[in-house]
Amino acid sequence: MFILKTEITYKQDFFIWTGGIVASSLIERLKVKTNRRKQAIVDEYFRPEGIENIFIIGDCAEIINYETGEILPPMAQIAIQTGEITARYIKDMIKGKKPQVESPVFRGMVSALGGKYGVGMIKNGIKFRGFPAYLFKELVFLHYKLPLRHISKRGYRRLLKQ
Ligand SMILES: Cc1cc2nc3c(=O)[nH]c(=O)nc-3n(C[C@H](O)[C@H](O)[C@H](O)COP(=O)(O)OP(=O)(O)OC[C@H]3O[C@@H](n4cnc5c(N)ncnc54)[C@H](O)[C@@H]3O)c2cc1C
Repeated sequence: MFILKTEITYKQDFFIWTGGIVASSLIERLKVKTNRRKQAIVDEYFRPEGIENIFIIGDCAEIINYETGEILPPMAQIAIQTGEITARYIKDMIKGKKPQVESPVFRGMVSALGGKYGVGMIKNGIKFRGFPAYLFKELVFLHYKLPLRHISKRGYRRLLKQ
């Protein structure tokens, strides 16, 4: 069950949300160029036009794969890749090196559809559904969750030592 701001209540067994998204309102306040999703338009190093030391990544920016020209969907896999790539860019910039441009890659998607059922598509167009897709979704989830748990535990231990 969910309740709208207008206090209308909906009960459902299955809900498909087609509302779309817009980027954080913070981007509008930066007064940089944006697309129709209010995502910042950034260069190949994820910097808004004319600004050398601000990087905008993840859902807040229009991320392009510069090899294919494809605009990538605002998804966790893209946000994580832009984070990792930007860290390498900043490392090179600190060393006074011109970073080699890297493009995030859309690897496909899987969705859980309730119960042990899912649908999925791998980048090269292979589609799958049912229990295998559900299992794949669970594996993808663990692939993100386990390293995150390790990193946060390590960070927490470091904090305790300080
Ligand atoms: C319902 C839903 C389902 C989704 N399912 C999937 C999925 O199955 N697979 C997938 O790949 N992607 C999925 N996504 C998309 C995915 O969640 C995003 O693409 C991803 O989280 C983007 O990461 P990000 O770091 O750019 O932004 P976020 O994860 O949104 O992180 C931004 C952070 O900044 C903080 N913040 C905002 N404003 C300020 C401020 N002014 N000052 C300080 N902090 C601030 C926010 O609190 C937040 O913690 C889903 C999104 C939604 C909404």
